[in-house]
Amino acid sequence: MAKYDFDLFTIGAGSGGVAGTRRAGSYGAKAAIAESVRVGGTCVLRGCVPKKLLVYASEFARAFDDAAGYGWSVGETRVDWANMIARKDKELDRLNGIYINMLKNSGVQIIDGHARLVDAHTVEVNGQRHTAETIMIATGGRPVRPEIPGIDLTMTSDDILDMKEIPEHLVIVGGGYIAVEFAGVFRNLGSKVTEILRSDAILRGFDRDIRSSLTEEMGKQGIELKIRTHVTAIEKDGKGLAVVIDTGERIACDRVLYATGRSPNTSGLGLEKIGVTLNKKGAIAVDEWSRTTVPNIYAVGDVTDRINLTPVAIAESRAVAETLYNDNPVRMDHEDVPSAVFSQPSIGSVGLSEEAASVIYKELDIYVTRFRPMKNTLSGRDERTMMKLVVDARSDRVLGCHMVGPDAPEIIQGLAIAVKCGATKRQFDRTVGIHPSAAEEFVTLREKRKEPAKQAAD
Ligand code: NDP
Repeated sequence: MAKYDFDLFTIGAGSGGVAGTRRAGSYGAKAAIAESVRVGGTCVLRGCVPKKLLVYASEFARAFDDAAGYGWSVGETRVDWANMIARKDKELDRLNGIYINMLKNSGVQIIDGHARLVDAHTVEVNGQRHTAETIMIATGGRPVRPEIPGIDLTMTSDDILDMKEIPEHLVIVGGGYIAVEFAGVFRNLGSKVTEILRSDAILRGFDRDIRSSLTEEMGKQGIELKIRTHVTAIEKDGKGLAVVIDTGERIACDRVLYATGRSPNTSGLGLEKIGVTLNKKGAIAVDEWSRTTVPNIYAVGDVTDRINLTPVAIAESRAVAETLYNDNPVRMDHEDVPSAVFSQPSIGSVGLSEEAASVIYKELDIYVTRFRPMKNTLSGRDERTMMKLVVDARSDRVLGCHMVGPDAPEIIQGLAIAVKCGATKRQFDRTVGIHPSAAEEFVTLREKRKEPAKQAAD
């Protein structure tokens, strides 16, 4: 008789948990997965997927505006947002069903309910105990908001995805991925948008030319950025809300979105009791194999707070499955992970920013181009694209590729392969462009920027 009920028991059926557990199942492991909300997790149900559907919905407004320059008479346009949200929810139900089927087809048992660790090999769900040789924790994260008076009157990204009406005036607090993405969505949909930052600039950690280019474009669209501003309270104000800031000013609005980061879901799992250690940031501490301080317990994805992106969580958990069930030891490689921000215009980025590279490399060659995309000539849209290469002057290796402009995520995904392979600027130059495209600019950049490389200010 088997020593344990399962070879692998995964807690959390988001993108990370599902991917590794299915992979384990495909190698013949007897696997189970517990989920307390709905199979699919943050990315599919409360993050990337619904967000991108909202981005698509909002982009029609730009397309209608641009159409006149190309000879179209569009006439009056109107969006039925409640209907759009209902259609989005239907799509999420479909994806939830697909995820459930994919797990079942891989032989993975789905257990509904909140899981708690009893000991290193035992998990309890709804009062029932299950034993497993290996346990994988993939419980993700959740939005966090600062504790200020009236904070319960505000929304998080979970709530805004379900909002059935378009606010007249939306205030967004934060300057990260979520804040700039929703600023773009609701500005396109016609809302007045005010974004409040405690620091000097949006998107900390991104290359400064990305940050400044997007800031400029957001400004042209009429998104109001209030920098170095702290919110002290949120109050009810007639039918709407008032955001009180540190100068004493009250900003009247309909809705307030807090996008002030996410925190790992570690509470209620019984981690401390069985010796799974958290790091200083409150995330589960893991080694390069995603192993926690209890050797048969692994943790992957946002709950470990390494790089909090869906494809990273998927790769981390598949690495665990390959290592344990396919005799193929894989350590997740966190170098040169590309990322995108679905702001409008969008951002794609891979490798080092100029500021990060300048700390490591003595001499950098920086190539930057800014231009009006061809589509904007006839449409008259006042929006520019920015592309940038960060190159190590000594080895000629391309260390970073950064872009703000239409299709940036699609373009950077391809360039990420080149950066991962260690391509040189000379190899970029020898690559023939595709014409007419924006992407071809990345292989035709000639002029090095004259000023010296810049280091990060924050
Ligand atoms: P981010 O960590 O990206 O940004 C948080 C923002 O909130 C920062 O601007 C930060 O300011 C600010 N902030 C933090 N605490 C406070 C506070 N107490 N008061 C005021 N401002 C504050 O978090 P998000 O919530 O935008 O996104 C969470 C994560 O979700 C991201 O890190 C990313 O991993 C993931 N995500 C990825 C997406 C993608 O890949 N396209 C899309 C959406 C989310 P400061 O800069 O000063 O620290």
